[in-house]
Amino acid sequence: MAPLRNDPRAEPGDRPNLVGQPPRAIAALLEPVVDRPFRARQVARWIIDRNATGFAEMTNLSKPLRAELDRRFRIADPEILEASTSDDGSVKWLFGLDDGLTIEGVAMPEGGKLTMCLSSQTGCAVGCTFCVTGALGGGRNLRPDEIVGQYRVMLRQLEAPVDRVNIVFMGMGEPLLNTGHLGLALETLYERVSPKRITVSTSGILPGIRWLAGLERRPKLAVSLNAPDQERRQHLMPIARRYPLVDLMAELRRFPLEHGRRITFEYVLIRGLNDRVTDAEAVARMIRGIPSKVNVIPLNEDPEHFPDLRRPDDATINQLAIALRDAGLTVTVRWSKGLDVDAACGQLKGRHQRGSPPRLEVRGASQRDGR
Ligand code: SAH
Ligand code: SF4
Repeated sequence: MAPLRNDPRAEPGDRPNLVGQPPRAIAALLEPVVDRPFRARQVARWIIDRNATGFAEMTNLSKPLRAELDRRFRIADPEILEASTSDDGSVKWLFGLDDGLTIEGVAMPEGGKLTMCLSSQTGCAVGCTFCVTGALGGGRNLRPDEIVGQYRVMLRQLEAPVDRVNIVFMGMGEPLLNTGHLGLALETLYERVSPKRITVSTSGILPGIRWLAGLERRPKLAVSLNAPDQERRQHLMPIARRYPLVDLMAELRRFPLEHGRRITFEYVLIRGLNDRVTDAEAVARMIRGIPSKVNVIPLNEDPEHFPDLRRPDDATINQLAIALRDAGLTVTVRWSKGLDVDAACGQLKGRHQRGSPPRLEVRGASQRDGR
């Protein structure tokens, strides 16, 4: 676990962090410092394309300019506090932020493809009754540097070569309650990762969905449905009282979809609560007509927080998936990714785990292109 060179806690100060800022914002921040605009573009390329961790690396800039930049700005990422690897190869990191709070992120490899699951907040005020992040309560919004910093650190840490990175905002927090910072982070990430490889998952925050709809370059949208009707949805997801299912569906029917794109509906499957074949049929009726796919996520159990909630048995999970498929929907089931480090995206705790130390199978040396 290599310490990061620009640990923000080592150098607090009020120097703006250039991480997570898109090129136009870096240009505006650097304008008083650089003699020509292309210098700012060079700095942006170092940070965004080459994942630089300090101004000293920027060898095509003069030494005095590098020193001046270092006096005025920071390039700082979240610090790695812990890393654990599961048998299926996914890696979970616990990151420390400069105010002492912690978040988690997960990287899940599949062939040459890597899916990164990023956090957007340090807890979640939405408080879904099956979600550990929700049980932590509302945290604060992550800043753009803390969002993009997770991506930067993960790229640096991974051992195997990666052809393609997908990013999903399914870690801690509700991304559409943090649209200001998410917008800047997305704009920065688009420099390396196409919007069609980025998915924002929401519990159904209508103003946030409208914000997404209005963006010029949109990531993909995933909506956590989790129930076949309003009554059960508001039981599982209290936010559904504020943003009822009928309004959510009406908004999604209006949502602009680029050619070939679909909305993903996530459906966390909980024994005895939403796992009947008739529930699948109700879901199919509800989303009929929306270009979509359904991602069935068997509950990641957490006896400590939710002793009464269980994952259905495999036969029930299969029956539900088949019923959805028979109703004409495209269905995937997330069988196990990250389960043995309880790292299934959306089940992140953001705090130190006690017990045996994790096996470290990550390395701090290499830096790779995320395209
Ligand atoms: N707040 C956003 C994104 C983070 S949660 C949202 O709710 O969509 C990401 C996913 O993890 C959601 O689909 C959520 O329903 C799911 N999730 C939460 N707790 C879970 C659990 N205990 N087991 C399985 N999936 C869970
Ligand atoms: Fe928040 Fe998503 Fe967890 Fe609900 S499922 S509490 S919205 S992180």
